[in-house]
Amino acid sequence: MKTYRIAVIPGDGIGPEVINEGVKVLNKIAELDSSFEFDFTYFPWGCEFYTKHGKMMDDDGIDQLKDFAAIYLGAVGFPGVPDHISLWDLLLVIRKSFDQYVNLRPVQLLHGAHSALANVKNDEIDMLFIRENTEGEYAGAGDWLFKGQDNEVVLQNAVFSRKGTERIIRYAFEVAKREGKTLTSISKANALNYSMVFWDEVFEEVSLDYPEVKTASYLVDAAAMLMITDPKRFEIIVTSNLFGDILTDVGAAIAGGIGLAAGANINPERRYPSMFEPVHGSAPDIAGKGLSNPLATIWSASQMLDFFGYKEYGKAIASGIEELLSTKEFLTPDMGGTATTSEVGEKMVEILTSQIKRKVLG
Ligand code: ATP
Repeated sequence: MKTYRIAVIPGDGIGPEVINEGVKVLNKIAELDSSFEFDFTYFPWGCEFYTKHGKMMDDDGIDQLKDFAAIYLGAVGFPGVPDHISLWDLLLVIRKSFDQYVNLRPVQLLHGAHSALANVKNDEIDMLFIRENTEGEYAGAGDWLFKGQDNEVVLQNAVFSRKGTERIIRYAFEVAKREGKTLTSISKANALNYSMVFWDEVFEEVSLDYPEVKTASYLVDAAAMLMITDPKRFEIIVTSNLFGDILTDVGAAIAGGIGLAAGANINPERRYPSMFEPVHGSAPDIAGKGLSNPLATIWSASQMLDFFGYKEYGKAIASGIEELLSTKEFLTPDMGGTATTSEVGEKMVEILTSQIKRKVLG
């Protein structure tokens, strides 16, 4: 039997609650399959850890994580701990140290999910964002000069290396080619006259190797508008770190809300563990009350299963979420229901069990 060792970082706020439900789902699938199992190791890192120890993770945290098959992360963030600390000292350290340069964020309107757009059909919102995840605007390069003085200056530099730009664009072309879909590049070459002119050039260069892939290029401002006015024109999308971060929140709004948005941070070469997480944060306002929606975290578990090669189970989770949404009985308050976090998780386990058994039996 194959064992996948998973590092679990539940984090803060609603992180532990939603992760619990994701772990339940993963364990159930492994139990039903019986050819593999999960071995979960929990790490107490995050903002609460920071308030006790003055750091977001152990000094040798990266070393402790490096041999796991994957990392499953809830959410980090807590009032009183500045966001740039929680982001830079945990999440970004992991993404950069493990060269998780691909951030996959599906924006797909599942049946039964509520879109912020009126009169939109489910098949009109079915996109996959492929966001550059290790450099760009989040490279952390810059300076803060003459702090507090009249001549104070801050510099925040975006970093676009040829290697970093080319590999994310190539990855996106490979996905588009494999799936027979169009590829849209989103940039901003009119205003960002170095970085985004370069991005567009690299996109053009790489496209020559993929004549079968139909492409489009948009400025980020136009893309934000078109995602709302004409979402069906987007299939696979490749974009930079910042633009991808912002546009996928637009994506969450049109595809069922933040409670349904999942993300995978992938090291495609598999030299290091990849990390799977919901897009939402720690939501301290609703933490500990059983109100949080675990579906984004469960969806990210399906991305983990896809990554391990169990595509049929990844699909089963997505269709299980659709089944759950369509019954309307087992929804958390953010989706207009009255179910608790764990009731949603239990229901998902029940739906998946009957789906998988049905398949196995014929
Ligand atoms: P952080 O500071 O960690 O990013 P946050 O709460 O500021 O956390 P978001 O995750 O964007 O950031 O959450 C914004 C609001 O959306 C939350 O305060 C909460 O009310 C709601 N929310 C977020 N995630 C969920 C969820 N999984 N289930 C239900 N409501 C959620």
